[in-house]
Amino acid sequence: MAARVLDGNKIAADIRAEVACEVKVLTAAGMRPGLAVILVGNNPASEIYVRGKVKSCEELGIYSEKHTPPDTVSTEELLELVNDLNQRDEIDGILVQLPLPSQVDSKKVLMAVDPAKDVDGFHPVNVGFLSTQRPGLVPCTPAGIIEILKRSNIPIAGQEAVVVGRSDIVGKPTAMLLINSNATVTVCHSKTRDLPGVCRRADILVAAIGRAGMVARDFVRPGATVIDVGMNKISDRNEFDKFFKGNEKREQVFASKGSTLIGDVHPEVAEIAGAITPVPGGVGPLTIAMLMVNTVRAAKLRRGSRVPELAKA
Ligand code: NDP
Repeated sequence: MAARVLDGNKIAADIRAEVACEVKVLTAAGMRPGLAVILVGNNPASEIYVRGKVKSCEELGIYSEKHTPPDTVSTEELLELVNDLNQRDEIDGILVQLPLPSQVDSKKVLMAVDPAKDVDGFHPVNVGFLSTQRPGLVPCTPAGIIEILKRSNIPIAGQEAVVVGRSDIVGKPTAMLLINSNATVTVCHSKTRDLPGVCRRADILVAAIGRAGMVARDFVRPGATVIDVGMNKISDRNEFDKFFKGNEKREQVFASKGSTLIGDVHPEVAEIAGAITPVPGGVGPLTIAMLMVNTVRAAKLRRGSRVPELAKA
């Protein structure tokens, strides 16, 4: 039987509607949440991501501002900008869009962001909060994965979860969140022995690898939930045919754009999984939605007891 498709667009829309309500309450109390985005240079992909984030703020009533230093910017200049944003009370979240140019010490810049305003959740202080289950800011994509599972009524506690990928941005924080939700978690990577065999143990399989369609049928226990985080662009016809030959909808996209997106999970897995996130339209939409959640959360954590009761839930 074909897998239940977990609609990330619908879940993200629900979360955004909830955020918009909270923003209204906070704004009425004179605490409008604010996000500052730093976009260095002219990287086209980064420009698209930042445009999406700023637009999302506008739609939900969150104040936003964009800083666009040139790609010749120095580490010191960026540190000065971050410090300035750290000091401003109306800014609750600071997001430094990656990658930064090679002359910039990215780690130093990210470390300079006040952990209370670190809406990406990458600062070691927030990583520590997550691993010790203290209130803090959690990375957006992993937080989105948990929202998909919870809002789709997929049980986590007591389940076997396997996460393929151990990056600081996706794999590790996802594993940590699953542990905190009482799953039994295995983390795999490029040195894992018998990857398909380990993955077949999973009730919940998370693929965060960055390899088009790598997770094939033999990685998946029939009925398992499969969360596909990968976003890989295919523009080669032969590769396209390998995954999507005869798929009319995909053919149309490929013909008009010259490329299509595929996750880390092979399309054939949808025939045996119990539930699966599509690419596009699965985990992706949650990432920006959770950035909005984090901005509001940062505002509430920073303002503590001044937050009106209605927005405290
Ligand atoms: P990284 O490249 O940082 O990490 C990839 C991980 O996959 C590494 O841990 C690596 O292992 C592991 N890996 C690579 N090849 C293999 C293999 N053959 N077998 C087993 N493990 C392997 O990627 P990210 O975590 O940043 O991103 C992963 C994917 O998720 C990408 O496609 C990215 O585009 C997508 N993504 C999607 C987002 C969204 O909003 N939907 C947000 C962020 C990322 P090792 O550590 O041993 O090298």
